Amino acid sequence: MVENLPVKTHEIKGLTIEGYSRAAVQSYWRIPELKVGFDLGASPWEFTGTSTFLITHGHLDHMAALPAYVARRRMMKMEPPTIYVPAKVAESVEKMLRSWQKLDRGRMICNLVAAEPDAEYELSREHVVTTFETKHTVPSLGYIIWERRNKLKPEYQHLSGSEIRDIRLSGVEVSGEIRKPIVCYCGDTAPQGLDNCPAVYESKILITELTFFRPEHRKEKIHKFGHTHLDDILERADKFKNELIILGHLSTRYHEDQFRRAIDKKMPEELKKRVELWV
Ligand SMILES: [Zn+2]
Ligand SMILES: [Zn+2]
Repeated sequence: MVENLPVKTHEIKGLTIEGYSRAAVQSYWRIPELKVGFDLGASPWEFTGTSTFLITHGHLDHMAALPAYVARRRMMKMEPPTIYVPAKVAESVEKMLRSWQKLDRGRMICNLVAAEPDAEYELSREHVVTTFETKHTVPSLGYIIWERRNKLKPEYQHLSGSEIRDIRLSGVEVSGEIRKPIVCYCGDTAPQGLDNCPAVYESKILITELTFFRPEHRKEKIHKFGHTHLDDILERADKFKNELIILGHLSTRYHEDQFRRAIDKKMPEELKKRVELWV
């Protein structure tokens, strides 16, 4: 295996989050157990095996490696991947892939999905993904992966197995679908993006950006660039119900020690204990 790009890893209850994210450099993430990745600012070799990528927007630090990833899967004789991109940029992405096809003289085969905001797409029998609009300087989407399970309806839960079977045989639907948001990835966004979708705050795992944290980088200005400031996270501290919050995409103007110190000093304990700084 060629070790060509950094990958950080964190495990929580059967899910592994892998990736790396620095503003204007590169962001790439994946969750192998879900066979899904987010953004392809670069593509580590092992990410080639992940067959679905959900791309938040067209900035180079989030999409530059898409043609390399598509071509590598073909080279490795893997199935064509499925790539979700915001519908507003889908045509440009298709043209870009066709240009690379000419440059590289290798076919760029993938299933490109033009994802609309507030839409739902099936990933597998157990998982669906929904989209929400984020607020950035270019068209952008956030993604939430939901686990879906069929569960016995509450009104039948006290009954025995044979009683339930009899009701089922009489043609009554005894179970219903239960959904839980398990992973939310926001990509680059001003805090309005987080507020656009209540499930962002409910998802078991939340991966979002925290690009700026210094008081002199005023948050109003940061919002115009479509990014989140530490003060935005602190203002919303009580809203986060997530078990794990990963904050990535730190600006390269900062050293990670400064960032850690600022979080240590300012973030309330109740939130801090669930936060993982991805630097
Ligand atoms: Zn970015
Ligand atoms: Zn961006």
